[in-house]
Amino acid sequence: MADMRQLAPDLHAVAGRPRDAFNVHLVGSVIVDAATRHAAGRILRAVSGRTVTAHAVTHGHSDHQGSSAALVAALGVPFWAPAGEAPVLRTGDNTPLGRDNVITRWQRRHWAGPAVDATRELAEGDELDAGFVALETPGHSPGHLSYWREDDRTLVAGDVLFGRHPITGRPGLHEPPERFTLDIARNRESIRRVAALRPALMVFGHGPAWRDADALARFAEALPG
Ligand SMILES: [Zn+2]
Repeated sequence: MADMRQLAPDLHAVAGRPRDAFNVHLVGSVIVDAATRHAAGRILRAVSGRTVTAHAVTHGHSDHQGSSAALVAALGVPFWAPAGEAPVLRTGDNTPLGRDNVITRWQRRHWAGPAVDATRELAEGDELDAGFVALETPGHSPGHLSYWREDDRTLVAGDVLFGRHPITGRPGLHEPPERFTLDIARNRESIRRVAALRPALMVFGHGPAWRDADALARFAEALPG
């Protein structure tokens, strides 16, 4: 199935173009993140023939919730949102979840999806599927969640870190750009938290998968503050 790549047991990446630019993962039977509102077709093609029981997001920025409403409607599955962001996502205006500048306003106009009602609000320790549990990793957005599986030390990081350079696209660890991050100091605490887990495999909202826990630890140690 060319539209989907397996990264670990019960963890698949939906193919996108450019590759790894706006990542969507199938975690067990839960679609995690939904890219922009233009991505619904590619996501639905990728998951066709597979069991999908729910859709969740790591956070509610426009490049993660854009196709959420469309997926939930097309698949008839519930939407699960971080407890800290579900109330905002119900309004259809995600402005409070991020910085307000000319770029994020453009993203909201061109990428964001409509209101979507979470029937479950996820908090620290809540089980997603396939052994993954929610970790509260705020900073990039107020209620940001990552999903962690202790068994094989796999982390679905979301946007705590980028796995590619935000402009050139070259693979490598980067903090998410300041202009998209609500609370930079708090996000650095979340980076230190995930680095301390020493993940064997880490997947991101943006960029290819990462398998070097030592390099992640060095990156976290070198952060200011
Ligand atoms: Zn993002």
